[in-house]
Amino acid sequence: MSTLNPPSALALHGGPKVKTTPFGTGRRFDETEAQELLEALEQNTLFYHHGQKVKTFLRHFNALYGVTYSVAVSSGTAAIHVALGAAGVSVGDEVITSPITDQGTVIGILYQNAIPVFADLEPHTYNLDPRSVEARITPRTKAIVAVHLAGAPCDMHALMQIARRHNLKVIEDCAQSWLCRYKGRLAGTIGDYGCFSTNDFKHISTGDGGIVTVNSGDEADYHATHAFADKNYRRFDANLRGDIPYLAPNYRMTELQGAVGIAQLKKLAGICEARHRYGERITQGICDLPGIAPHQVHEGGWSSYWFYMLRGRFAPESTNPEATQDMSASAVRGRLRCTRAQFSQALAAEGIPNTPGYIPHVVYLNSMFRRRHAYRGSHFPFDLSDARYEPGLCPVAEAILRDCIRLEVNEFYTPQDIEDIIAGIRKVATYYALP
Ligand SMILES: *Cc1c(COP(=O)(O)O)cnc(C)c1O
Repeated sequence: MSTLNPPSALALHGGPKVKTTPFGTGRRFDETEAQELLEALEQNTLFYHHGQKVKTFLRHFNALYGVTYSVAVSSGTAAIHVALGAAGVSVGDEVITSPITDQGTVIGILYQNAIPVFADLEPHTYNLDPRSVEARITPRTKAIVAVHLAGAPCDMHALMQIARRHNLKVIEDCAQSWLCRYKGRLAGTIGDYGCFSTNDFKHISTGDGGIVTVNSGDEADYHATHAFADKNYRRFDANLRGDIPYLAPNYRMTELQGAVGIAQLKKLAGICEARHRYGERITQGICDLPGIAPHQVHEGGWSSYWFYMLRGRFAPESTNPEATQDMSASAVRGRLRCTRAQFSQALAAEGIPNTPGYIPHVVYLNSMFRRRHAYRGSHFPFDLSDARYEPGLCPVAEAILRDCIRLEVNEFYTPQDIEDIIAGIRKVATYYALP
């Protein structure tokens, strides 16, 4: 199976398709969620502090993650904002994060009137390069938001050492990385705070929702984090209840989301294990191909593959002559004579859906950054900092977005679906391989 036989004609050119059966599908929600929802309604309250569903959801989450304290919130974006607020990130502080991520990673930074600073990435894990993080630290730096992209862990050992050396808080963005592990420890339990999303596209869904872990294990820290998601109301301490010491949003989770979350958490391990097996199998099936770099996971890391993203050494797109092949050559032998667009189309014609690219450009090239314009009619808080947002700032991240191809990994896929994905990639890469 792993030989480079002369391929049959590409489906793109009229040959037989690799994928002849439909991909496996399934239902995410069943009677378990329905029963929990019914019970939530029967409580006659949907307020998290009066009902039992959000509390139970968190108790199960805490047991699974081995943490003492966590707070339920309305989204992953909210989780990150709450962690920043609890960490004391405020006006004019700089927060270092990844340029390949969801907008939700940076929203909370700017709502705290702090300044996002982007560090470059490792070429094949697509996660923060600790050396680049350290190089971007200034006297204003207050925190690092470490995004564990696509289910795979950052180099947390190096990041934690840097953070401790410079007295920075570490917030883990685990929105895409449920049950992801780094050297035996669960991502989200290593930094000061871990942030999770249960939006409808993540491993598990409550429609929208999120969780923040408070890893200090300190009760006062937990109470401050809890209050930051609830208008700074102090629900646990009657003495503090009357006063609002500083601004905090309302990011409460409702009992309906908590109810669905209880049922979804029961399915989490199975979902992550299936995705892990499938992602690892794809790497094993394509790692010998010329011109293709598989999705790498750190030594000692465990990925729950929210998606699978490979890189190719493609011919430059004629419309984009700057798309030179600056992929770290060490990890890739050989090259391909097709452009990324041609490869993607050929793979799709074989019946293997794929996306050439991920987000349209690195986060700092969105116009809100290029024009330093978070709030309409103002350059605040960008004008408090020298941070720059321009092409070339993170060359590895920019190269990743130019030459990556993204494949869906799904727990409902069958093992045969994964073999077909591998066979499709092998056929197209072998056809386009340069001798
Ligand atoms: C989804 C996501 C978020 C935001 O989560 P929401 O629940 O959509 O607000 C943040 N960071 C990353 C990396 C994500 O993928």
